[in-house]
Amino acid sequence: MLKPVIIKKLEEIVGGNWVLTAKEDLATYSYDGTTTWSHSPDVVVLPSTTEQISEILKLANEYRIPVTPRGSGTNISGGSVPVCGGIVLCTTRMNRVLDINKTNLTAMVEPGVVLQDFNNLLAKENLFYPPDPQSFLSCTIGGTVAENSGGPLCIKYGVTKQYVLGLEVVLPDGYVMNLGGATVKNRTGYDLVHLFTGSEGTLGIITKITLRLIPRPAARRTVMAMFDDMTRAGSVVSRILAEGIVPAKIEFVDNFVIRRIEEKMQIGLPVDAKTMLLIETDGSIAAVDSEAAQIMDLLNKGGAKIARLAKDEAEANTYWKARSAGFAAIYGAARTVIAEDVTVPRDRLSDFIEKLDEISKSSGFEIVLIGHAGDGNIHPSVFTNSREKEDLDRLQDTLTAIFEAALELGGTLSGEHGIGLEKKRLLAKALDPMAISFMRKIKEVFDPNNIMNPDKIWERS
Ligand SMILES: Cc1cc2nc3c(=O)[nH]c(=O)nc-3n(C[C@H](O)[C@H](O)[C@H](O)COP(=O)(O)OP(=O)(O)OC[C@H]3O[C@@H](n4cnc5c(N)ncnc54)[C@H](O)[C@@H]3O)c2cc1C
Repeated sequence: MLKPVIIKKLEEIVGGNWVLTAKEDLATYSYDGTTTWSHSPDVVVLPSTTEQISEILKLANEYRIPVTPRGSGTNISGGSVPVCGGIVLCTTRMNRVLDINKTNLTAMVEPGVVLQDFNNLLAKENLFYPPDPQSFLSCTIGGTVAENSGGPLCIKYGVTKQYVLGLEVVLPDGYVMNLGGATVKNRTGYDLVHLFTGSEGTLGIITKITLRLIPRPAARRTVMAMFDDMTRAGSVVSRILAEGIVPAKIEFVDNFVIRRIEEKMQIGLPVDAKTMLLIETDGSIAAVDSEAAQIMDLLNKGGAKIARLAKDEAEANTYWKARSAGFAAIYGAARTVIAEDVTVPRDRLSDFIEKLDEISKSSGFEIVLIGHAGDGNIHPSVFTNSREKEDLDRLQDTLTAIFEAALELGGTLSGEHGIGLEKKRLLAKALDPMAISFMRKIKEVFDPNNIMNPDKIWERS
Protein backbone atom coordinates (compact mmCIF):
# COMPACT_ATOMS: atom_id res chain seq x y z
CA MET A 1 0.00 0.00 0.00
CA LEU A 2 1.38 3.39 -0.93
CA LYS A 3 1.07 6.24 1.54
CA PRO A 4 -1.70 8.78 0.75
CA VAL A 5 0.99 11.46 0.40
CA ILE A 6 2.50 9.58 -2.60
CA ILE A 7 -0.91 9.25 -4.26
CA LYS A 8 -1.45 12.98 -3.71
CA LYS A 9 1.92 13.80 -5.31
CA LEU A 10 1.07 11.60 -8.32
CA GLU A 11 -2.27 13.44 -8.66
CA GLU A 12 -0.42 16.75 -8.62
CA ILE A 13 1.85 15.51 -11.43
CA VAL A 14 -0.76 14.03 -13.85
CA GLY A 15 -4.11 15.34 -12.55
CA GLY A 16 -6.57 13.48 -10.31
CA ASN A 17 -8.45 11.84 -13.21
CA TRP A 18 -5.35 9.98 -14.33
CA VAL A 19 -4.46 8.32 -11.04
CA LEU A 20 -6.48 5.14 -10.48
CA THR A 21 -6.79 3.44 -7.09
CA ALA A 22 -10.26 1.84 -7.15
CA LYS A 23 -10.17 -1.90 -6.62
CA GLU A 24 -11.76 -2.68 -9.99
CA ASP A 25 -9.28 -0.36 -11.82
CA LEU A 26 -6.34 -2.03 -10.11
CA ALA A 27 -7.73 -5.43 -11.08
CA THR A 28 -7.87 -4.32 -14.73
CA TYR A 29 -4.14 -3.54 -14.71
CA SER A 30 -3.12 -6.62 -12.71
CA TYR A 31 -2.64 -8.96 -15.69
CA ASP A 32 -1.58 -8.96 -19.34
CA GLY A 33 -1.88 -11.35 -22.30
CA THR A 34 -0.33 -14.14 -20.23
CA THR A 35 -2.82 -16.46 -18.59
CA THR A 36 -0.83 -17.59 -15.57
CA TRP A 37 0.26 -14.35 -13.85
CA SER A 38 -1.61 -11.63 -12.06
CA HIS A 39 -0.75 -9.17 -9.30
CA SER A 40 -2.46 -5.96 -8.30
CA PRO A 41 -0.55 -2.66 -8.47
CA ASP A 42 -1.02 -0.09 -5.69
CA VAL A 43 -1.82 2.61 -8.19
CA VAL A 44 -2.15 3.14 -11.94
CA VAL A 45 -0.88 6.38 -13.45
CA LEU A 46 -1.64 7.56 -16.98
CA PRO A 47 0.71 10.45 -17.85
CA SER A 48 0.44 12.48 -21.06
CA THR A 49 3.93 14.03 -21.35
CA THR A 50 7.61 13.16 -20.98
CA GLU A 51 7.91 15.79 -18.22
CA GLN A 52 5.18 14.07 -16.19
CA ILE A 53 6.96 10.72 -16.60
CA SER A 54 10.20 12.28 -15.45
CA GLU A 55 8.48 13.62 -12.30
CA ILE A 56 6.82 10.24 -11.60
CA LEU A 57 10.13 8.39 -11.87
CA LYS A 58 11.93 10.93 -9.64
CA LEU A 59 9.27 10.31 -7.00
CA ALA A 60 9.38 6.53 -7.41
CA ASN A 61 13.16 6.50 -7.26
CA GLU A 62 13.24 8.61 -4.11
CA TYR A 63 10.75 6.34 -2.30
CA ARG A 64 11.97 3.09 -3.97
CA ILE A 65 8.54 2.36 -5.45
CA PRO A 66 8.46 -0.32 -8.19
CA VAL A 67 7.30 0.99 -11.59
CA THR A 68 5.87 -1.34 -14.22
CA PRO A 69 5.61 0.28 -17.67
CA ARG A 70 2.58 -0.72 -19.70
CA GLY A 71 1.23 -0.11 -23.18
CA SER A 72 -1.84 -2.17 -24.10
CA GLY A 73 -0.86 -5.14 -21.93
CA THR A 74 -0.99 -7.64 -24.83
CA ASN A 75 2.43 -9.20 -24.22
CA ILE A 76 2.50 -12.91 -23.50
CA SER A 77 5.49 -13.15 -21.19
CA GLY A 78 4.11 -11.45 -18.07
CA GLY A 79 6.14 -8.30 -18.84
CA SER A 80 3.52 -5.79 -17.72
CA VAL A 81 2.25 -7.69 -14.66
CA PRO A 82 3.21 -5.58 -11.60
CA VAL A 83 4.47 -8.53 -9.55
CA CYS A 84 6.05 -6.22 -6.95
CA GLY A 85 3.02 -3.93 -6.66
CA GLY A 86 3.76 -0.19 -6.77
CA ILE A 87 2.98 1.94 -9.82
CA VAL A 88 1.72 0.79 -13.20
CA LEU A 89 2.76 3.55 -15.59
CA CYS A 90 0.52 3.23 -18.64
CA THR A 91 1.45 5.19 -21.78
CA THR A 92 -1.77 4.84 -23.79
CA ARG A 93 -2.61 8.56 -23.50
CA MET A 94 0.66 9.43 -25.24
CA ASN A 95 -0.68 8.45 -28.65
CA ARG A 96 0.33 11.20 -31.06
CA VAL A 97 2.11 10.65 -34.34
CA LEU A 98 4.42 13.67 -34.13
CA ASP A 99 5.89 13.60 -37.61
CA ILE A 100 5.80 11.64 -40.86
CA ASN A 101 8.67 12.66 -43.12
CA LYS A 102 8.10 11.38 -46.67
CA THR A 103 11.46 12.61 -47.94
CA ASN A 104 13.54 11.17 -45.13
CA LEU A 105 11.30 8.07 -44.89
CA THR A 106 11.00 8.41 -41.11
CA ALA A 107 8.32 9.03 -38.51
CA MET A 108 8.41 10.16 -34.91
CA VAL A 109 5.74 8.77 -32.59
CA GLU A 110 4.79 8.72 -28.93
CA PRO A 111 4.85 5.28 -27.30
CA GLY A 112 1.07 4.87 -26.93
CA VAL A 113 0.28 4.96 -30.67
CA VAL A 114 -1.55 1.77 -31.63
CA LEU A 115 0.30 -0.08 -34.38
CA GLN A 116 -2.68 -0.44 -36.74
CA ASP A 117 -3.60 3.27 -36.38
CA PHE A 118 -0.04 4.12 -37.38
CA ASN A 119 -0.09 1.88 -40.44
CA ASN A 120 -3.50 3.29 -41.48
CA LEU A 121 -1.98 6.80 -41.42
CA LEU A 122 1.09 5.66 -43.35
CA ALA A 123 -1.05 3.95 -46.02
CA LYS A 124 -2.51 7.37 -46.93
CA GLU A 125 1.06 8.51 -47.69
CA ASN A 126 1.89 5.29 -49.56
CA LEU A 127 4.34 4.37 -46.81
CA PHE A 128 4.77 1.22 -44.78
CA TYR A 129 6.11 0.14 -41.36
CA PRO A 130 6.65 -3.64 -41.58
CA PRO A 131 6.97 -5.09 -38.02
CA ASP A 132 3.58 -6.76 -37.58
CA PRO A 133 2.93 -8.57 -34.28
CA GLN A 134 -0.47 -10.17 -34.71
CA SER A 135 -1.81 -8.07 -31.86
CA PHE A 136 -1.52 -5.04 -34.21
CA LEU A 137 -5.13 -3.98 -33.64
CA SER A 138 -4.34 -3.06 -30.04
CA CYS A 139 -0.62 -3.22 -29.18
CA THR A 140 1.27 0.07 -28.81
CA ILE A 141 4.46 1.00 -30.62
CA GLY A 142 6.15 1.59 -27.21
CA GLY A 143 5.30 -2.00 -26.25
CA THR A 144 6.60 -3.36 -29.54
CA VAL A 145 9.90 -1.46 -29.12
CA ALA A 146 10.27 -2.62 -25.49
CA GLU A 147 9.66 -6.23 -26.66
CA ASN A 148 11.50 -5.91 -29.99
CA SER A 149 8.43 -7.56 -31.48
CA GLY A 150 8.29 -9.47 -34.71
CA GLY A 151 5.52 -10.96 -36.82
CA PRO A 152 4.87 -12.74 -40.11
CA LEU A 153 6.67 -10.09 -42.20
CA CYS A 154 9.98 -10.69 -40.39
CA ILE A 155 11.18 -13.24 -42.88
CA LYS A 156 11.64 -10.51 -45.48
CA TYR A 157 11.66 -7.29 -43.46
CA GLY A 158 13.20 -8.12 -40.07
CA VAL A 159 12.00 -7.28 -36.55
CA THR A 160 11.26 -3.97 -34.78
CA LYS A 161 14.90 -3.14 -34.01
CA GLN A 162 15.67 -2.92 -37.71
CA TYR A 163 13.36 0.13 -37.83
CA VAL A 164 14.19 1.98 -34.60
CA LEU A 165 16.55 4.87 -35.40
CA GLY A 166 16.17 7.05 -32.33
CA LEU A 167 14.61 7.08 -28.88
CA GLU A 168 13.81 9.50 -26.11
CA VAL A 169 13.88 7.61 -22.80
CA VAL A 170 13.31 8.65 -19.21
CA LEU A 171 15.80 7.03 -16.86
CA PRO A 172 14.78 5.81 -13.39
CA ASP A 173 16.16 9.00 -11.78
CA GLY A 174 13.99 11.16 -14.07
CA TYR A 175 16.73 12.19 -16.52
CA VAL A 176 15.45 12.51 -20.11
CA MET A 177 18.01 10.99 -22.49
CA ASN A 178 18.03 11.19 -26.29
CA LEU A 179 19.57 8.35 -28.26
CA GLY A 180 20.22 7.94 -31.99
CA GLY A 181 18.38 10.23 -34.39
CA ALA A 182 16.72 10.23 -37.80
CA THR A 183 19.66 8.98 -39.85
CA VAL A 184 19.68 5.52 -41.36
CA LYS A 185 23.36 5.15 -40.51
CA ASN A 186 24.74 6.03 -37.11
CA ARG A 187 28.03 4.65 -35.79
CA THR A 188 28.60 6.87 -32.79
CA GLY A 189 29.69 4.97 -29.70
CA TYR A 190 27.91 2.02 -28.14
CA ASP A 191 24.48 1.32 -29.61
CA LEU A 192 22.23 2.28 -26.69
CA VAL A 193 19.19 2.64 -28.98
CA HIS A 194 19.23 -1.09 -29.42
CA LEU A 195 20.00 -1.77 -25.78
CA PHE A 196 16.67 -0.14 -24.93
CA THR A 197 14.93 -1.91 -27.83
CA GLY A 198 13.93 -5.24 -26.31
CA SER A 199 14.78 -4.20 -22.73
CA GLU A 200 11.22 -5.10 -21.56
CA GLY A 201 10.76 -1.92 -19.51
CA THR A 202 13.63 -2.76 -17.15
CA LEU A 203 15.91 0.20 -17.95
CA GLY A 204 13.62 3.22 -18.34
CA ILE A 205 10.47 4.49 -20.02
CA ILE A 206 10.48 5.01 -23.79
CA THR A 207 8.73 8.32 -24.48
CA LYS A 208 9.47 9.09 -28.17
CA ILE A 209 10.46 6.81 -31.02
CA THR A 210 11.94 7.68 -34.43
CA LEU A 211 11.21 4.94 -36.93
CA ARG A 212 12.51 4.09 -40.39
CA LEU A 213 9.76 3.64 -42.98
CA ILE A 214 9.73 2.06 -46.41
CA PRO A 215 7.61 2.74 -49.50
CA ARG A 216 4.48 0.64 -49.65
CA PRO A 217 4.97 -2.35 -51.99
CA ALA A 218 3.02 -1.87 -55.22
CA ALA A 219 1.46 -5.34 -55.21
CA ARG A 220 0.89 -8.43 -53.10
CA ARG A 221 -0.20 -11.98 -53.88
CA THR A 222 -1.36 -14.60 -51.40
CA VAL A 223 -1.13 -18.35 -51.84
CA MET A 224 -3.00 -20.76 -49.55
CA ALA A 225 -1.94 -24.40 -49.44
CA MET A 226 -3.16 -27.45 -47.51
CA PHE A 227 -1.09 -30.53 -46.72
CA ASP A 228 -1.89 -33.97 -45.33
CA ASP A 229 1.50 -34.13 -43.73
CA MET A 230 3.26 -31.44 -41.71
CA THR A 231 6.77 -32.61 -42.59
CA ARG A 232 5.96 -32.30 -46.29
CA ALA A 233 4.79 -28.72 -45.73
CA GLY A 234 8.10 -28.01 -43.94
CA SER A 235 10.08 -29.43 -46.87
CA VAL A 236 8.26 -27.17 -49.34
CA VAL A 237 9.09 -24.13 -47.19
CA SER A 238 12.77 -25.13 -47.28
CA ARG A 239 12.52 -25.63 -51.05
CA ILE A 240 11.01 -22.17 -51.61
CA LEU A 241 13.85 -20.53 -49.66
CA ALA A 242 16.50 -22.68 -51.34
CA GLU A 243 15.23 -21.49 -54.75
CA GLY A 244 16.17 -17.95 -53.69
CA ILE A 245 12.57 -16.79 -53.23
CA VAL A 246 12.07 -14.67 -50.10
CA PRO A 247 8.31 -14.23 -49.67
CA ALA A 248 7.04 -11.46 -47.36
CA LYS A 249 5.32 -14.06 -45.15
CA ILE A 250 5.23 -17.84 -44.75
CA GLU A 251 2.85 -18.84 -41.98
CA PHE A 252 1.51 -22.18 -40.89
CA VAL A 253 -1.19 -23.55 -38.59
CA ASP A 254 -1.98 -27.16 -37.70
CA ASN A 255 -5.17 -29.19 -38.05
CA PHE A 256 -6.57 -28.18 -34.66
CA VAL A 257 -6.25 -24.49 -35.53
CA ILE A 258 -7.70 -25.03 -39.02
CA ARG A 259 -10.76 -26.68 -37.43
CA ARG A 260 -11.19 -23.94 -34.81
CA ILE A 261 -10.85 -21.16 -37.40
CA GLU A 262 -13.39 -22.86 -39.64
CA GLU A 263 -15.76 -23.32 -36.71
CA LYS A 264 -15.51 -19.58 -35.91
CA MET A 265 -15.31 -18.06 -39.41
CA GLN A 266 -16.79 -20.60 -41.90
CA ILE A 267 -14.55 -19.69 -44.81
CA GLY A 268 -14.50 -23.12 -46.40
CA LEU A 269 -11.17 -24.49 -45.16
CA PRO A 270 -10.90 -28.30 -45.54
CA VAL A 271 -11.04 -29.40 -41.90
CA ASP A 272 -9.30 -32.72 -42.54
CA ALA A 273 -6.02 -31.12 -43.74
CA LYS A 274 -3.09 -31.53 -41.36
CA THR A 275 -1.40 -28.19 -42.12
CA MET A 276 -2.23 -24.91 -43.79
CA LEU A 277 0.52 -22.76 -45.25
CA LEU A 278 -0.19 -19.12 -46.09
CA ILE A 279 2.38 -17.38 -48.23
CA GLU A 280 2.47 -13.75 -49.33
CA THR A 281 4.79 -12.20 -51.88
CA ASP A 282 5.08 -8.46 -52.31
CA GLY A 283 6.91 -6.03 -54.59
CA SER A 284 6.35 -4.88 -58.17
CA ILE A 285 3.43 -6.43 -60.08
CA ALA A 286 5.75 -8.37 -62.41
CA ALA A 287 7.83 -9.69 -59.48
CA VAL A 288 4.87 -10.86 -57.37
CA ASP A 289 3.20 -12.60 -60.31
CA SER A 290 6.36 -14.46 -61.19
CA GLU A 291 7.14 -15.39 -57.54
CA ALA A 292 3.57 -16.54 -56.90
CA ALA A 293 3.72 -18.76 -60.02
CA GLN A 294 7.02 -20.29 -58.85
CA ILE A 295 5.59 -20.89 -55.36
CA MET A 296 2.46 -22.55 -56.80
CA ASP A 297 4.68 -24.82 -58.87
CA LEU A 298 6.81 -25.80 -55.84
CA LEU A 299 3.69 -26.44 -53.74
CA ASN A 300 2.14 -28.69 -56.38
CA LYS A 301 5.38 -30.60 -56.92
CA GLY A 302 5.89 -30.83 -53.15
CA GLY A 303 2.62 -32.72 -52.59
CA ALA A 304 0.18 -30.00 -51.49
CA LYS A 305 -3.38 -31.35 -51.32
CA ILE A 306 -4.67 -27.90 -52.30
CA ALA A 307 -2.65 -24.94 -53.61
CA ARG A 308 -4.66 -21.86 -54.36
CA LEU A 309 -3.62 -18.41 -55.55
CA ALA A 310 -6.08 -15.93 -54.03
CA LYS A 311 -8.01 -14.42 -56.94
CA ASP A 312 -8.29 -10.96 -55.42
CA GLU A 313 -7.54 -8.87 -52.33
CA ALA A 314 -10.81 -9.87 -50.67
CA GLU A 315 -9.92 -13.57 -50.81
CA ALA A 316 -6.36 -12.86 -49.63
CA ASN A 317 -7.68 -10.76 -46.72
CA THR A 318 -9.99 -13.59 -45.65
CA TYR A 319 -7.03 -15.96 -45.33
CA TRP A 320 -4.93 -13.43 -43.43
CA LYS A 321 -7.82 -12.57 -41.14
CA ALA A 322 -8.11 -16.28 -40.39
CA ARG A 323 -4.40 -16.45 -39.58
CA SER A 324 -4.62 -13.39 -37.30
CA ALA A 325 -7.56 -15.02 -35.54
CA GLY A 326 -5.43 -18.11 -34.92
CA PHE A 327 -4.62 -17.30 -31.27
CA ALA A 328 -8.16 -16.10 -30.54
CA ALA A 329 -9.40 -19.37 -32.05
CA ILE A 330 -7.38 -21.52 -29.67
CA TYR A 331 -7.91 -19.45 -26.52
CA GLY A 332 -11.12 -20.81 -25.09
CA ALA A 333 -10.38 -24.30 -26.35
CA ALA A 334 -9.14 -25.18 -22.85
CA ARG A 335 -9.40 -23.55 -19.44
CA THR A 336 -5.75 -22.44 -19.69
CA VAL A 337 -3.82 -22.05 -22.92
CA ILE A 338 -0.08 -21.43 -22.67
CA ALA A 339 0.97 -19.91 -26.01
CA GLU A 340 4.73 -20.41 -26.12
CA ASP A 341 7.31 -18.88 -28.40
CA VAL A 342 10.49 -20.61 -29.51
CA THR A 343 12.65 -20.32 -32.59
CA VAL A 344 14.83 -22.93 -34.23
CA PRO A 345 17.10 -22.58 -37.25
CA ARG A 346 14.86 -22.78 -40.30
CA ASP A 347 16.37 -26.05 -41.51
CA ARG A 348 15.54 -27.74 -38.16
CA LEU A 349 11.83 -26.84 -38.22
CA SER A 350 10.61 -30.30 -39.25
CA ASP A 351 12.80 -31.96 -36.55
CA PHE A 352 11.35 -29.60 -33.95
CA ILE A 353 7.77 -30.30 -35.01
CA GLU A 354 8.42 -34.06 -34.68
CA LYS A 355 9.91 -33.48 -31.22
CA LEU A 356 6.84 -31.48 -30.17
CA ASP A 357 4.64 -34.37 -31.23
CA GLU A 358 6.68 -36.75 -29.02
CA ILE A 359 6.47 -34.31 -26.06
CA SER A 360 2.71 -34.02 -26.50
CA LYS A 361 2.30 -37.81 -26.51
CA SER A 362 4.56 -38.42 -23.53
CA SER A 363 3.14 -35.59 -21.40
CA GLY A 364 -0.50 -36.19 -22.27
CA PHE A 365 -1.01 -32.45 -22.95
CA GLU A 366 -2.51 -31.41 -26.25
CA ILE A 367 -0.04 -29.10 -28.01
CA VAL A 368 -1.28 -27.18 -31.05
CA LEU A 369 0.92 -25.24 -33.46
CA ILE A 370 0.85 -21.82 -35.06
CA GLY A 371 4.05 -20.49 -36.50
CA HIS A 372 6.06 -18.23 -38.69
CA ALA A 373 7.44 -21.07 -40.82
CA GLY A 374 9.61 -18.70 -42.84
CA ASP A 375 11.79 -17.78 -39.87
CA GLY A 376 11.64 -20.97 -37.76
CA ASN A 377 9.55 -19.27 -35.07
CA ILE A 378 6.83 -21.53 -33.66
CA HIS A 379 4.16 -20.91 -31.05
CA PRO A 380 3.39 -24.31 -29.51
CA SER A 381 0.23 -23.75 -27.45
CA VAL A 382 -0.24 -26.14 -24.55
CA PHE A 383 -3.78 -26.82 -23.29
CA THR A 384 -4.08 -27.19 -19.55
CA ASN A 385 -6.12 -26.21 -16.53
CA SER A 386 -4.67 -23.61 -14.19
CA ARG A 387 -7.09 -24.69 -11.44
CA GLU A 388 -5.58 -28.16 -11.23
CA LYS A 389 -2.32 -28.07 -9.26
CA GLU A 390 -1.21 -31.41 -10.66
CA ASP A 391 -1.68 -30.11 -14.23
CA LEU A 392 0.37 -27.02 -13.48
CA ASP A 393 3.27 -28.98 -12.00
CA ARG A 394 3.35 -31.28 -15.03
CA LEU A 395 3.01 -28.27 -17.28
CA GLN A 396 6.31 -26.76 -16.07
CA ASP A 397 8.11 -30.00 -16.96
CA THR A 398 6.46 -30.05 -20.37
CA LEU A 399 7.40 -26.45 -21.11
CA THR A 400 10.97 -27.16 -20.00
CA ALA A 401 11.06 -30.14 -22.37
CA ILE A 402 9.88 -27.90 -25.23
CA PHE A 403 12.56 -25.27 -24.55
CA GLU A 404 15.28 -27.87 -24.11
CA ALA A 405 14.31 -29.46 -27.42
CA ALA A 406 14.54 -26.07 -29.15
CA LEU A 407 17.91 -25.29 -27.56
CA GLU A 408 19.30 -28.70 -28.51
CA LEU A 409 18.43 -27.93 -32.12
CA GLY A 410 20.35 -24.66 -31.94
CA GLY A 411 17.27 -22.56 -31.24
CA THR A 412 16.38 -19.82 -28.75
CA LEU A 413 14.21 -19.47 -25.67
CA SER A 414 12.14 -16.72 -27.25
CA GLY A 415 11.81 -15.54 -30.83
CA GLU A 416 9.67 -12.50 -30.15
CA HIS A 417 7.61 -12.59 -26.93
CA GLY A 418 10.53 -11.86 -24.56
CA ILE A 419 11.46 -13.35 -21.19
CA GLY A 420 9.38 -11.33 -18.70
CA LEU A 421 8.20 -13.62 -15.91
CA GLU A 422 7.43 -16.62 -18.08
CA LYS A 423 10.94 -17.70 -18.98
CA LYS A 424 13.26 -16.24 -16.40
CA ARG A 425 13.62 -19.63 -14.69
CA LEU A 426 15.11 -20.91 -17.96
CA LEU A 427 17.41 -18.04 -18.84
CA ALA A 428 20.50 -19.80 -17.49
CA LYS A 429 19.88 -22.70 -19.88
CA ALA A 430 20.00 -20.39 -22.88
CA LEU A 431 22.74 -17.86 -22.11
CA ASP A 432 26.42 -17.92 -21.19
CA PRO A 433 26.66 -17.18 -17.42
CA MET A 434 29.04 -14.32 -18.22
CA ALA A 435 26.42 -12.80 -20.56
CA ILE A 436 23.84 -12.92 -17.75
CA SER A 437 26.34 -11.34 -15.39
CA PHE A 438 26.97 -8.45 -17.83
CA MET A 439 23.23 -7.97 -18.32
CA ARG A 440 22.71 -7.70 -14.57
CA LYS A 441 25.53 -5.14 -14.37
CA ILE A 442 23.95 -3.08 -17.16
CA LYS A 443 20.67 -3.12 -15.24
CA GLU A 444 22.47 -1.91 -12.09
CA VAL A 445 24.12 0.94 -13.99
CA PHE A 446 20.82 2.26 -15.34
CA ASP A 447 18.63 1.40 -12.38
CA PRO A 448 20.70 1.10 -9.17
CA ASN A 449 17.59 1.10 -6.97
CA ASN A 450 15.90 -1.61 -9.06
CA ILE A 451 12.61 0.25 -9.45
CA MET A 452 12.06 -0.40 -13.18
CA ASN A 453 9.95 -3.47 -13.80
CA PRO A 454 11.67 -5.43 -11.02
CA ASP A 455 11.68 -9.22 -10.93
CA LYS A 456 11.56 -9.56 -14.72
CA ILE A 457 14.06 -11.36 -17.00
CA TRP A 458 16.23 -12.76 -14.10
CA GLU A 459 15.50 -14.81 -11.04
CA ARG A 460 16.11 -12.80 -7.89
CA SER A 461 19.69 -13.38 -6.71
C1 LIG B 1 -3.21 -12.34 -30.01
C2 LIG B 1 -1.78 -11.93 -29.82
C3 LIG B 1 -0.90 -12.05 -30.89
C4 LIG B 1 0.44 -11.66 -30.73
N1 LIG B 1 1.28 -11.79 -31.80
C5 LIG B 1 2.56 -11.41 -31.67
C6 LIG B 1 3.46 -11.55 -32.78
O1 LIG B 1 3.11 -12.00 -33.87
N2 LIG B 1 4.75 -11.15 -32.60
C7 LIG B 1 5.19 -10.63 -31.40
O2 LIG B 1 6.36 -10.27 -31.31
N3 LIG B 1 4.36 -10.50 -30.33
C8 LIG B 1 3.06 -10.87 -30.43
N4 LIG B 1 2.22 -10.74 -29.37
C9 LIG B 1 2.74 -10.20 -28.09
C10 LIG B 1 2.48 -8.69 -27.87
O3 LIG B 1 1.37 -8.26 -28.55
C11 LIG B 1 3.68 -7.84 -28.22
O4 LIG B 1 4.73 -8.13 -27.33
C12 LIG B 1 3.42 -6.31 -28.17
O5 LIG B 1 4.55 -5.69 -28.65
C13 LIG B 1 3.12 -5.76 -26.81
O6 LIG B 1 2.68 -4.40 -26.95
P1 LIG B 1 1.81 -3.74 -25.79
O7 LIG B 1 1.53 -2.33 -26.14
O8 LIG B 1 0.62 -4.55 -25.50
O9 LIG B 1 2.85 -3.77 -24.58
P2 LIG B 1 2.67 -4.32 -23.09
O10 LIG B 1 2.19 -5.72 -23.14
O11 LIG B 1 1.87 -3.36 -22.30
O12 LIG B 1 4.17 -4.26 -22.59
C14 LIG B 1 5.14 -5.11 -23.13
C15 LIG B 1 6.47 -4.88 -22.39
O13 LIG B 1 6.97 -3.61 -22.72
C16 LIG B 1 7.12 -2.78 -21.57
N5 LIG B 1 6.71 -1.45 -22.01
C17 LIG B 1 5.52 -1.08 -22.54
N6 LIG B 1 5.55 0.22 -22.89
C18 LIG B 1 6.79 0.69 -22.55
C19 LIG B 1 7.42 1.96 -22.65
N7 LIG B 1 6.82 3.03 -23.16
N8 LIG B 1 8.69 2.07 -22.19
C20 LIG B 1 9.35 1.02 -21.65
N9 LIG B 1 8.79 -0.20 -21.55
C21 LIG B 1 7.52 -0.36 -21.99
C22 LIG B 1 6.25 -3.43 -20.51
O14 LIG B 1 6.75 -3.20 -19.19
C23 LIG B 1 6.35 -4.90 -20.87
O15 LIG B 1 7.52 -5.45 -20.34
C24 LIG B 1 0.89 -11.14 -29.48
C25 LIG B 1 0.00 -11.03 -28.42
C26 LIG B 1 -1.32 -11.43 -28.57
C27 LIG B 1 -2.24 -11.29 -27.39
